[in-house]
Amino acid sequence: MSFRTDEVEIKCAVCGGTSSQTVVAEFDPDTSVPDLDMRPNGEHRSYLKYWVSECPHCGYCNASIEIPVLFTKEFLESEKYKNTGCSGLAEKFMKMSLVCEKNKVYEEAMKACLYAAWYYDDENDDEKAAECRRAALKIFDLHKQEFKDKPDFMLLAADLMRRSGDFERVIRDYKDRLFPSRLIMALAAFEAELAEKGDSSCHKADEANGVVLK
Ligand SMILES: [Zn+2]
Repeated sequence: MSFRTDEVEIKCAVCGGTSSQTVVAEFDPDTSVPDLDMRPNGEHRSYLKYWVSECPHCGYCNASIEIPVLFTKEFLESEKYKNTGCSGLAEKFMKMSLVCEKNKVYEEAMKACLYAAWYYDDENDDEKAAECRRAALKIFDLHKQEFKDKPDFMLLAADLMRRSGDFERVIRDYKDRLFPSRLIMALAAFEAELAEKGDSSCHKADEANGVVLK
């Protein structure tokens, strides 16, 4: 077993409608080495689809549809919300990102775009995956003050830039840059090194010089 799910009745925080939702009740801890953007291995990625729920009545998407919101249900009827330009699970994550941004939970908003990118990575749709990574970066850039003291998000931004092909920015912003921990510095240097080679592919965190994660 890597995880077990339960079916539960959940009341939507936006429209008040109830629906049956699948939630992860138990999961085995992930001890594998993640990718540079913290993407888990295939086995642990298989429950990605349970990281977002959608209300079948009003279309509200979030980690749980019980989470209260700072907007009215008209937002869910807006063009921006209804036409994310993504499909399948990625569409739900992009909607969750819009919701989290409205709720001023910017870290979650950024991560929801990243999860949408992971969905497209597994679909081998590089173009859409890059588009979702750029959407994550847009949140990072628009709400810079929220992330400036969070080295893990600074590092995630470097990977988002590189994986979506903006090598110049990775080199400019991360080469020889000082960070509060040696681990973060090693990973930032590795991102800059890959960017210098024009490498936009997926790499594991322990490929960086001096990084031992196990
Ligand atoms: Zn609802």
